Amino acid sequence: MTANRRFRRVVRIGPVQVATYYDGRGREKHTAACTAPRCGFATDYDSRAAAELAARTHRCRVR
Ligand SMILES: [Zn+2]
Repeated sequence: MTANRRFRRVVRIGPVQVATYYDGRGREKHTAACTAPRCGFATDYDSRAAAELAARTHRCRVR
């Protein structure tokens, strides 16, 4: 889980939060995670652009 990571540059695109963090080895990672209950969409990406694109194109089943 991502609960104890330190997120930076957190933005919200629709129901999806995009954030940048450093993994345990100091590498920059980017995550897109839907905040809708029971959606469960959460994916890590190597680039911020990919994470933001995923957030923008996410079609949430829960509305
Ligand atoms: Zn969703």
